[in-house]
Amino acid sequence: MQAQGFSAFVRLYAPAPSLQANALYATWILFQAFLYTVLPGRSKGQMTPAGHLLEYRTNGLLAYEISVALFLLCVFSGFLDPTIIARHWEGLIVAYNIWGYALSCIAYIKAHYAPSHADDRHFSGSALYDFLMGIEFNPRFGTDWDWKLFHNERPGIIAWTLINFSFAAVQYKKFGTVTNSMIIVNIFHLMYVVDLFINEAWYVKTIDIAHDHFGFYLAWGSAVWLPTMYTLQTQYLARNPVQLHPAVAAAILCVGLGGYWLFRSVNDQKYRVRRTNGDCKIWGKPAKYMRASYVTGDGKTHESILLMSGWWGVSRHFNYVGDLMLSYAMCAVCGTRDLIPWTYAFFMTAILVHRCLRDEKRLETKYGEQWTKYCAQVRWRLIPGIW
Ligand code: NDP
Repeated sequence: MQAQGFSAFVRLYAPAPSLQANALYATWILFQAFLYTVLPGRSKGQMTPAGHLLEYRTNGLLAYEISVALFLLCVFSGFLDPTIIARHWEGLIVAYNIWGYALSCIAYIKAHYAPSHADDRHFSGSALYDFLMGIEFNPRFGTDWDWKLFHNERPGIIAWTLINFSFAAVQYKKFGTVTNSMIIVNIFHLMYVVDLFINEAWYVKTIDIAHDHFGFYLAWGSAVWLPTMYTLQTQYLARNPVQLHPAVAAAILCVGLGGYWLFRSVNDQKYRVRRTNGDCKIWGKPAKYMRASYVTGDGKTHESILLMSGWWGVSRHFNYVGDLMLSYAMCAVCGTRDLIPWTYAFFMTAILVHRCLRDEKRLETKYGEQWTKYCAQVRWRLIPGIW
């Protein structure tokens, strides 16, 4: 870089902007916003720290089905080349970044001058931290057009399947075949995405939506990190095809499907016990749980349930174990020749370990001594006997 000079280095190696890619991405965001606005489907979220019980537009499954069906229709009718996304990838990365940074700035300014729920804002005292982690909890247009749910879920996650499909088409075009590794990773990702939309009422009660504020971390993360990092395996396989031995493919498939089953089973137990107010069976026995109270910003006291049986008796974040199994299986299809496609699994490990610590710090503040009592009952954080 020193020999070339900074600007020559950037021109040579940084992704180049393209008008077409910007137009493609802008159309995509507007189309998703249109579907988010007009399709039916509503769910109640979780009580916010200030005591608001907000409603969300949970029409993701329909939006996903319409988007994928339309894309496939265009491809199979010959109107669209399936490699369109992969061909514009460089320009799209620039477009994702323009939007990710712009949205983070807009969210920061809105939080100061036009907040949706001023009492749910969080100011840390550091402008940089506020920009990164967000100030507003639920920036909205009107009463229920939620920016956080829309951006976390729609443009990036719906595109995830299409990006993968586009890179699979590149592999086919280049090598005349679609390898079993490409098929397996497409299945894993498809499963993960469809699961999210089927269980959208559950998703609005997870940390991203129920506890995180909307800043650079979520805005840039969903606009840039998600479509680029979460599709790393198909991007890699499009250029470096890997044909797995059938036994290896079967083993990876088993670990991935097992991980997914665990992920869904653990998350369902927590969702079920809270939905039924504790009146349900876990592993065939009445649920064992603890009632814990907390106070919201408006001074009111509320009650919550902390499940202590089933998977939630094994460790305090066992849902992350299933996710990690699936993440490592997604990367394993790329083989061990290169480290780059494994970045996703390493990132997931870091983010989920950090989440355990960050979530527990928040819960300790929220529930006080009751949280300590719960931790004494469910001793392990992630993997019993280890951590
Ligand atoms: P959870 O869905 O586990 O939500 C954590 C919250 O659940 C806590 O803050 C607490 O909220 C409540 N809770 C904690 N312990 C109990 C208990 N024993 N019984 C009942 N409720 C409890 O966390 P995440 O949102 O992080 O994860 C959801 C799923 O999403 C996971 O499977 C995870 O692997 C996956 N995920 C995927 C990511 C990706 O990028 N692919 C990123 C992050 C997560 P409260 O304040 O309501 O008590």
